[in-house]
Amino acid sequence: MLNAAALKKEFPILDQSVNDEPLIYLDNAATTQKPKAVLESLTTYYQLNNANVHRGVHTLAERATHDYEAAREKVRAFINAKETAETLFTRGTTTSLNWIARSYGLANLQPGDEIVISYMEHHSNIVPWQEVAKQTGASLVYIELTHDGLLDMADAKQKITNKTKIVSIAHVSNVLGVTNPIKELAEMAHAVGAVMVADGAQAAPHMPVDVQALDVDFYAFSGHKLCGPTGIGVLYGKRALLEKMEPVEYGGEMIDFVYDQESTWTELPWKFEAGTPNIAGAIALGAAIDFITAIGMDEIHAYEEALTKYVMPKLQAIDGLKIYGPQKASDRGAVISFNLDSVHPHDLATAMDMQGVAVRAGHHCAQPLLRYLDVQSTARASFYFYNTFEEADQFVAAVIAAKEFFE
Ligand code: PLP
Repeated sequence: MLNAAALKKEFPILDQSVNDEPLIYLDNAATTQKPKAVLESLTTYYQLNNANVHRGVHTLAERATHDYEAAREKVRAFINAKETAETLFTRGTTTSLNWIARSYGLANLQPGDEIVISYMEHHSNIVPWQEVAKQTGASLVYIELTHDGLLDMADAKQKITNKTKIVSIAHVSNVLGVTNPIKELAEMAHAVGAVMVADGAQAAPHMPVDVQALDVDFYAFSGHKLCGPTGIGVLYGKRALLEKMEPVEYGGEMIDFVYDQESTWTELPWKFEAGTPNIAGAIALGAAIDFITAIGMDEIHAYEEALTKYVMPKLQAIDGLKIYGPQKASDRGAVISFNLDSVHPHDLATAMDMQGVAVRAGHHCAQPLLRYLDVQSTARASFYFYNTFEEADQFVAAVIAAKEFFE
């Protein structure tokens, strides 16, 4: 089992007190903290290698270009894409999903077509599709959830039909913590000639991801949720699809020839990366991938499973505490949304903060899901590999203390 206490020491931000209590950071589904290696990668780039990529012949430009493209290769290996041409740098999951919607969606949808999503999607995997549906006359169809908060695969079979052109589903839910059967959904999508999009924002940081084994057509994730900086993310797409797609943005970097009245595009992946990219961010994302893969994605997943199994029964034993989604720890990851029947989640999160424990309260950018669950907002604790079992105990104690304070 990985040594969370030792790994935590790599994160300078975690070594501080908040409200006179040692910080326990449990808002990892929103964003994760950055290890020294990632911080150093950012400062090294700006202190020693800062230059624009691809265009210069001077030494700094060559170093920046080398490190930027080396980071792309790290991303490729991380998700086992066939080639770096299939791994595009974006600003994050939201941008990646918007690119698919605007480039693939606008070009391939017609009135009567259907985009299939589910009731457990993040707004980033709903709103871009709503907009594309409005513009094309396609419609959005939602897969229901089971009583346990799992994706209802029987309903998925009903909803994925010959009308379906795109199926876009979270690999892991940011509210319920469940992992969805992406490979099976991809098979169902392909059987009707649709493309399969997976929102990997909450999966890529926590488990091994193999886009070829999943056979997804597109896969999106964010750097900042796996110890990388904000403002950098990834869109994986199969070459055959990306080749046919139009870029979403136009300008420098993405052109081949610019004539007076029209232009031609350069090859993949640069065709999609208009303008000066987030060079430092991409390189630091590479450093983050190095960091987490050195720990091991299987090890991270196993550790978080053990932590979830440890903390779930302790929470379930608290009178009046309701956990949303599967009640069996083995059915879920280390994202736990919950409510105390006597305390508003915002009050709970504030009371937890007074004890140094950072948890989130709100709708978690999943309003359709919260309506589906018939709840306005929830508290959410989300763990990562640097959270120790002792912190899990302190978290449970802080929930109990907050409950007693408000009662
Ligand atoms: N999808 C899921 C499942 C998420 O949890 C998030 C972020 O919380 C996003 C998409 C959006 O990610 P970002 O804000 O990094 O673009």
